[in-house]
Amino acid sequence: MAKIRTLHVEDVMRKDVIKLPEEANVRKVAIEMSEKGVGSIVITHNDHPVGIITERDLVSRVIAKGLDPEKTLAKEIMSSPLFVISPKAEIMEAARKMSSLNVRRLIVVKDGKMIGIITSRDILNIAPEFIEILIEASKNRLIRTSEEEMVGYCDNCEEWSDSLKEVNGQFLCENCRLEFSQ
Ligand SMILES: [Zn+2]
Repeated sequence: MAKIRTLHVEDVMRKDVIKLPEEANVRKVAIEMSEKGVGSIVITHNDHPVGIITERDLVSRVIAKGLDPEKTLAKEIMSSPLFVISPKAEIMEAARKMSSLNVRRLIVVKDGKMIGIITSRDILNIAPEFIEILIEASKNRLIRTSEEEMVGYCDNCEEWSDSLKEVNGQFLCENCRLEFSQ
């Protein structure tokens, strides 16, 4: 069994992140998932990651609502912003972060660039004992802290940022946070 405490995000993450631009229609997203055999697609704007769409999103946000996959765009159904983690973070930290944020995937970002993706399934595959931590944490779910960094659009200036934080329910970039705090 892998020694979990010595493993870092970069040892477990997938480097071949499947991406599509936010103007892609949902049918294209579904085809890409099916052809590449992945459960999620990262959605980009000018090559910056801004959101994610999972198989479950296709079911609950498209099929269940009777939307037309040809006419619905990725950006209309994606989840955003994205939660991120450093490649050097320990696997334990990634697992805790997923549990406290109630997400199954984190985008791995280094120097402002997406270099991979890590899922709770990836972690469980290498370290089944982690199921205990995930179950424990989900029973006692932590409140999302505004300290968690995200990537995506700023709600104020609408620019892409790799350092978004939640302030009073708004996702703000570093500049706008400074502006608002003055
Ligand atoms: Zn801003």
